[in-house]
Amino acid sequence: MKILKFGGSSVATPARIQSVIEIVKPYLREDVAVVFSAFGGVTDVLIQISRLALEGNLEYKATLADIERRHLDAVRALVGVQKQSSILAQVKFTINELEDVLHGVYLVKERTPRTLDYIMSFGERLSAYIIAEAFKDNGVAAEFLDARRVVRTDANFGYAKVDFDTTNTQIREHFSRQQALQIITGFIGTSETGETTTLGRSGSDYTAAIFAGALQASDLEIWTDVDGMMTADPRLVKKAFTVPQMSYEEAMELSHFGAKVIFPATMQPAMVNRIPIWIKNTFNPTFQGTVIHAESKNGKVIKGISSMNAISLLSVQGSGLLGVVGASARLFATLARERVNVILISQASSEHSICLAIESQYTRQAKTAIEKEFQYEIRNEEIDEVHVETDLSVIAVVGDNMKQSPGTSGRMFSALGKNGVNVMAIAQGSSERNISAVVRQADVAKALNALHEAFFLSDRKLLNVFLVGTGLIGKALINMVREQFNKLAEENLLEVNIVAIANSRKMLFQEAGLPLATCLDENEAKGEAMHMEKFVEHMVSLNLPNSIFVDCTSSEEVTSFYEAILSASISVVTPNKKANSASLEKYKLLKHTAFRRGVKFLYETNVGAGLPVINTLNDLLLSGDKVISIEGVLSGTLNFIFSSYTAGKKFSDVVKEAKAKGYTEPDPRDDLSGMDVARKILILSREAGLPYELSDITVENLVPADCREQTSVDAFFTALEKHDSAFEKLLAEATARQEKLRYMAVLKDGKVAVSLGTVNDKHPFYSLSGSDNIILLTTERYHERPMVIRGPGAGAAVTAAGVFADVIRIGHYAR
Ligand code: ASP
Ligand code: MG
Repeated sequence: MKILKFGGSSVATPARIQSVIEIVKPYLREDVAVVFSAFGGVTDVLIQISRLALEGNLEYKATLADIERRHLDAVRALVGVQKQSSILAQVKFTINELEDVLHGVYLVKERTPRTLDYIMSFGERLSAYIIAEAFKDNGVAAEFLDARRVVRTDANFGYAKVDFDTTNTQIREHFSRQQALQIITGFIGTSETGETTTLGRSGSDYTAAIFAGALQASDLEIWTDVDGMMTADPRLVKKAFTVPQMSYEEAMELSHFGAKVIFPATMQPAMVNRIPIWIKNTFNPTFQGTVIHAESKNGKVIKGISSMNAISLLSVQGSGLLGVVGASARLFATLARERVNVILISQASSEHSICLAIESQYTRQAKTAIEKEFQYEIRNEEIDEVHVETDLSVIAVVGDNMKQSPGTSGRMFSALGKNGVNVMAIAQGSSERNISAVVRQADVAKALNALHEAFFLSDRKLLNVFLVGTGLIGKALINMVREQFNKLAEENLLEVNIVAIANSRKMLFQEAGLPLATCLDENEAKGEAMHMEKFVEHMVSLNLPNSIFVDCTSSEEVTSFYEAILSASISVVTPNKKANSASLEKYKLLKHTAFRRGVKFLYETNVGAGLPVINTLNDLLLSGDKVISIEGVLSGTLNFIFSSYTAGKKFSDVVKEAKAKGYTEPDPRDDLSGMDVARKILILSREAGLPYELSDITVENLVPADCREQTSVDAFFTALEKHDSAFEKLLAEATARQEKLRYMAVLKDGKVAVSLGTVNDKHPFYSLSGSDNIILLTTERYHERPMVIRGPGAGAAVTAAGVFADVIRIGHYAR
């Protein structure tokens, strides 16, 4: 025997009912009985009608007429014309009965729980009756069974308790006499004195379980409108998926928090008889769904994550609680008296404080009651006033297997911590099946996603990138992400989502990730006006896990937001040097904030583009090495200029050529001034632990004084030509000594200088060509011969590659 149950949404329209009949047909080869809820939404409407009647509002008649029409229409749609009239008459007859009760409520202005149960019973009575007739019309030998004939309950109206002895006997007796397919009303029963009762809202599941238990069914199938029990609420966690199987206990824990696919009471009769419960989707009938049974077989530590909103946390603390037997008993007795349900309790072993989570609606009431109960202790300052925090949520991870898996809570809290979710209270049941944490409601979606990723997609990380700056580097980065997407996902189990892009004019967001091939055009076409402040606000409010802000601009304004961004637990990756070469205080603050928030601030591309300079330096220092000196050719532009400046050429022509090739800034003076190199060596000095400001660096400005005043670039070039001979002299002197001109940055003996100098053919800088960079690190360990890092140190592609590597590094860290 199998018991099937279809809920309100599965029978909301005649078309849905017809597809339910098709779902049931194949089962007719075996023994089966089917339980139905009222048509979708009808129970709510019945309650509403009864309230109108109670309030003396005659509107109730119109609403009742709607209900009548809906059921009559269903008959007309589902049953052939010849048979309709008697069925329509029966429906009308039943509705008349309902109308009489409502009229009574209207007249006496009283609606007892008993009357309400009676009124609500019409929903199931009408639906199961009509559906039974529809089955008959489909050639199935079916029979309507009003469950009131067999389900015996107490007289606790609205939430009646089942008398299983009588009920089981009556059900078995009834079925022993019946051949036809039983179409059963869910939700309702009869008290000993013959009054109609209900089993509590959504009680049809329970009815089905009662029949399954009584008949020792092999299976109980709950047909609903979702694909079974999910790993998390799919409205909040897009990657949630169906859990194929779980234990009764796991299902119970999960349904306690939010995942209202099945109600705990339902499980009880199935559980004691060890009947598997299948959750199936009427809208997707071939999908396997979830089976809930006696043991949880599958190896996953966690079965699901759920949450409960609108929670307040009350803490009671003070020396008056310390070692005082009975204080907590009084506390909980007080809440019980007030009928305040306690959702979570946590007491530190210092016994100095107890904190408990309750539904927010009871906050005032609970606080007042507790303070009254402990008024003497409060007056004597043995206990503080009750401290309240609101707008919180409880999130819970649930799974039988966490018992054998140490590290579950570690995983949970590190996932929350890495995403900046503050945990305000924690509780773990001694059954070790559930770990709950209280967090801010604003963090719930992020917390659920982070946990979902940590427990279910642990092999896959999703990085959410917010990119500002879509110039050469930004574009190259987008293309790189696009080209590497599949490989990264498959081999490194990292998915990079570019959630937002912005340039100085426009910005575009798409939470699920922008289409990489077209996002730049889309931003032009439909992006909104760019405001850095709004961009940051939007990014922070999305509150996505593993968020990374990538700044591919050279804007100082953008760097002024880093502190706020890091404070919001969002990592920052950037080739923009402006932040790290600003004041030492700012540099330290950013590092400190990143550290405190547990996020990353990575800027490998600040020096030498994609060359591994900063990481290498940091690795050396981490291992205990000390820097003796750093020397470098750190400007690709200046290296191009000086390595192509050979006898017979004019210096100004070489600079022009560099500009024509796109190697210089729009105004080449920005390169020739040496400031860019100064910023780079400043950053390296700081990384090496030296507390320097930009002003501590001696910089040789290669722009002759009279060239600095020129307002246009052309005028600058004209002015520069007058200095060609001076540069020629420098070159000639160097060549005479068989040396070459190099613009170098040197940190040595606590001094940092940036200047034009010469090197002979023994020096590693001698052979440097093109726009390459070179860095020599002389340290205590590398002191005989320095460590040399050399290679292309400029260009969009190599810089973007460095930025990309930093993003991936964060992905690995987040694992
Ligand atoms: N029709 C009832 C309700 O809406 C029972 C059920 O649907 O399970 O609560
Ligand atoms: Mg680098």
